Amino acid sequence: MNEKTEALTKKQQQILDELNNCAHEVSGQQLHRTLIETSSNMGLTTVYRHLRTLQLKGLVRCRNLPKGETLYSPVNRDHHHLTCVDCGQTVVLKSCPIKNIELPKTQTKNFELLFHTLEFFGLCNSCRQRQKVAET
Ligand SMILES: [Zn+2]
Ligand SMILES: [Zn+2]
Repeated sequence: MNEKTEALTKKQQQILDELNNCAHEVSGQQLHRTLIETSSNMGLTTVYRHLRTLQLKGLVRCRNLPKGETLYSPVNRDHHHLTCVDCGQTVVLKSCPIKNIELPKTQTKNFELLFHTLEFFGLCNSCRQRQKVAET
């Protein structure tokens, strides 16, 4: 592993392992619940504090849902989503459309880039059908 992961405490490593074990992104509360089931009796506040530290280390990414919930996943998992604004159905994009995008160097020189987010919103087929029916 790289130097970033060396400095992790046992609990931070536990959280990172758990995020890697989850096939999907998880909220802080879901993560907290899983951690309780598996072994650790970490408090919810502690989980959030460690998530924040891991994010600052560039190991964990997060994205905010329209409902206000925050979902976390490992930073090396470069997934993006297409979400229905009506029912909330989410599709994971097969690849990252902006993986190799170049940002203007003059603007990023004072930043260490950690992660990016990119989201698409729309209406899924069944919600569109429902709208059509309601209109007529
Ligand atoms: Zn929908
Ligand atoms: Zn991406």
